[in-house]
Amino acid sequence: MKIALIPGDGIGPDIIEEAVKVINAVGEKKQISFEFITYLAGGAAIDQTGIPLPEATLEGCKKSDAVLLGAVGGPQWDTLPGHLRPERGLLGLRKGMELFANLRPALLFPQLKAASTLKEEVIGDGIDIMVVRELTGGIYFGDRGRNEEGTRSAYDMETYSEPEIDRITRIGFEIAKKRKKKLTSIDKANILETSRLWREVAERVAKEYPEVELHHMYVDNCAMQLIRNPHQFDVMVTSNMFGDILSDEASMLTGSLGMLPSASLGSGKLGMYEPIHGSAPDIAGQDIANPIAAILSAAMMFRYSFEMEAEAVMIEEAVARVLEAGYRTKDIMEKDMKLVGTKEMGSLIAEEI
Ligand code: ATP
Ligand code: MG
Repeated sequence: MKIALIPGDGIGPDIIEEAVKVINAVGEKKQISFEFITYLAGGAAIDQTGIPLPEATLEGCKKSDAVLLGAVGGPQWDTLPGHLRPERGLLGLRKGMELFANLRPALLFPQLKAASTLKEEVIGDGIDIMVVRELTGGIYFGDRGRNEEGTRSAYDMETYSEPEIDRITRIGFEIAKKRKKKLTSIDKANILETSRLWREVAERVAKEYPEVELHHMYVDNCAMQLIRNPHQFDVMVTSNMFGDILSDEASMLTGSLGMLPSASLGSGKLGMYEPIHGSAPDIAGQDIANPIAAILSAAMMFRYSFEMEAEAVMIEEAVARVLEAGYRTKDIMEKDMKLVGTKEMGSLIAEEI
C-alpha cells in the first residue's frame, strides 16, 4: 500500500507522525507493508516552492492508494493573494483527484460525554452519524454575479445534473449498506427544483439498494432534528451547501474538534483523509495537540480506500480503550484523568493495537 503523506502546517506534522505510528502498528500486527511518501502542500509548499500545490504533489497523490493530510494554513500566509493561499492547495488536491464526496462522521465516544452540547439523556451511549456531502457541485460552483445598475442585486445559481446526484447518493447508499442500512437524504424539495430532481434520482438509485431504508427530510427540519433526537440518523446524504452547514452542526454535537476525522472520496478507491480541525498554529510543535482526529482519519483510510474493515475497527477500538483507561490530551482533559502529550497518546494507541 502506497500512502501519500501531506503533514502540512502548524500541528499537521505533529499529528501525522502519530497517525503513521498507528498505521505501522497495524502493519506489524497484520503483516502489511506500507510505503510512505511525503509531499508538500499549503503553507509549507508556499515557503519552499512559491505555490500552494506543486505539480509533484498532485501527481504523487494520484499515483498513491490514499492520501493522509494533517492541516494547512496559518496566519503568516493570510495576507497572500487568494490564488496563493494555503487552502488553495487543498481545493486543488480535491479537484485534481476528482473527489466529489466528503464524509464527516459525527462520532461521540461515550467516554467524552461531558464535552457534548447535548443533554446526557439525549446522548445515551454515544453519537455516531455519518454526513455525506456533495463537494464539487451545486451553488458553490454555479454561475454568480451582480447587477450594479439601478437597485443593486446579486445572484448565485444552483445547478445539479442527474449524474452528479446519482454518484453522490450512490456513495450514501454504499456507506449505509455497511452501517445500519438507513439513509436520510436531505433537501428542500418543497421549494427548490434542484431538490426535486435530487429526490427523484435518490428514489431511482434506491431501487438498486433494496436492503437500505431511504428517508427524505427537509433541511430546516433536519437542523432541528439533529439537536432534538440525533439517534434517528445513521447516514445522511446532501448537497454541497446543506452539507457544509449540517456537517458543522453535527460535529458540534460531539464537542471535540480534536477527535473528528474526515474523508474525501471519488469514484475509485483513491481518497484523501484529514482531521476536520485546522492547523492550530497556537499549539504547533509543543506536543500538546490531540492526534486522535488524524488517527481516526487513518482508520477511515483503511475502511474506504483499502477496504480493510477489520483494521479500521482495530484502530477505532484501540482509541476507545485508551480513552477508557483515562488518558486524555489537554483539549479533552477532565478531572481525575491522566494528561498525556501528542506523542504519548499516539504511542498508547499504537501499543493497544
Ligand atoms: P481553519 O480556519 O483552518 O478551519 P480554525 O482556525 O477555525 O481552523 P483550528 O486551527 O482548527 O481552527 O483551531 C482552533 C483551536 O482549536 C486551536 O487554536 C486549538 O487551540 C484548538 N485545536 C484544534 N485542533 C486541535 C487538536 N488536534 N488538538 C488540540 N487542540 C486543537
Ligand atoms: Mg485556522
